[in-house]
Amino acid sequence: MDNFPSKWPVALDLWRAEREGAAGLARRQESRLAALLADARGASRFYQRLYGHLPAEGIALGDLPVVTKRELMAGFDEWVTDPGVTRAGVEAFIANPSLIAAPFRGEFFVCTSAGTTGYPGLFVHDSGAINVYRAINFARINRAWFGVGTWLRMAQRGFRWAAVLGTGGHYVGAGWIELERQRDAWRSRAFRVFSVQQPLAELVAGLNAFDPAMLTGYPSTLELLVEEQAAGRLKLCPALLECGGETLSPDASARMAAAFACTVRSMYSASECLPMAFSCDHDWLHVNSDWVILEPVDEDFHPTPPGEPSDTVLLTNLANRLQPLIRYDLGDSVLVRPDSCPCGRPLPAIRVAGRHDDVLRLKAADGRTVKILPLAVGSVIDETPGVHRSQLIQIGPATIRLRLELKAGVDGEKTWRDVIAKLDAYLARQDLGNLELVRASEPPEQRARFGKFRHVIAQPPATG
Ligand SMILES: [Zn+2]
Repeated sequence: MDNFPSKWPVALDLWRAEREGAAGLARRQESRLAALLADARGASRFYQRLYGHLPAEGIALGDLPVVTKRELMAGFDEWVTDPGVTRAGVEAFIANPSLIAAPFRGEFFVCTSAGTTGYPGLFVHDSGAINVYRAINFARINRAWFGVGTWLRMAQRGFRWAAVLGTGGHYVGAGWIELERQRDAWRSRAFRVFSVQQPLAELVAGLNAFDPAMLTGYPSTLELLVEEQAAGRLKLCPALLECGGETLSPDASARMAAAFACTVRSMYSASECLPMAFSCDHDWLHVNSDWVILEPVDEDFHPTPPGEPSDTVLLTNLANRLQPLIRYDLGDSVLVRPDSCPCGRPLPAIRVAGRHDDVLRLKAADGRTVKILPLAVGSVIDETPGVHRSQLIQIGPATIRLRLELKAGVDGEKTWRDVIAKLDAYLARQDLGNLELVRASEPPEQRARFGKFRHVIAQPPATG
């Protein structure tokens, strides 16, 4: 058992907030925002400086300056509200992969992310935030997703939960499930993370043997598994498929529902704030607005009207006091539903566009096509010391071009050699030892100021 506080009081409040409707949600949001601002101004030197010119009271959220990952990371030690948490301390902690999901200093959940900007971030969630995320999953999302029929189908498979995610680093998805597994013996048996880095045939065999009741993954991963299920190699009978990390298109959702004969739901979460929104029966994502504020804005950070896609979205996480995120530029394009959702929830309904990486389809020496998941190959590169960010582009049936941006002060030649050696070893394990890897002289490219950064870009061979 871990030593985090009880989720029950928060769970009860979540239920009450929804019952009280828009007014109850707004009241909670307002009082929690006031408390977060007071904390940030009291204990974060970064926000003391940033808000120094503002009056002590009576400021609207929209009057506060926007913050970005690059500036928060640059001022990490001044940003956090606990002087015991330092960038050096967190970096030493995450350098040790055996500590994935281990509580940092006994009470914090740490995860790293490149996110949609491609720049690495270090996020530390305090025990209060962990408790809120757990309560939202349990009291709000499970209640929304699991009807009686789903519960019965889940029970038939022992509530086993398989998640196919990036592993080997402190990534939010796999790290969170590991944290949950450590809570008790039942969870440690029933929940399992499968690595997207393993060859597809191994993944399929592992999933068949585990026989999950619920399957979680990126849409690109689950789409590959749809093909495996249709071909009869994968033989799963889950009650629910959960998509996260990328945007789920209605077509992909329909293909998944048909292939697995089950309910498909999606989560909108980030390393910065775990359960930001969850999908309903009508395929809208409902924002947990009593704990999360999402402001869709244009490129000048002015509000985007409901019904229109925004250039980016500003996140305010009301649950985490350790690293205050107040009007943080998250980078996603979000559209707010202008009217109320037919499901009747008072929580704001949104759609998120543009989070997408491509699956690579590469030719092996024997002529077979081998599918490579973007997250898997991307993490192999990004986990190499010295790499700041990377971009991989397929330029031929068996040719990929690698762009790297290195950290300041590292030995560039050595870092390149390390990355290529790791990538060669990874590709050889996938039967792609024949691949030609082109070392690019140009850095990774972002197409527009708010264009989504893509780690992996597939350019299908002209022959199709
Ligand atoms: Zn709805």
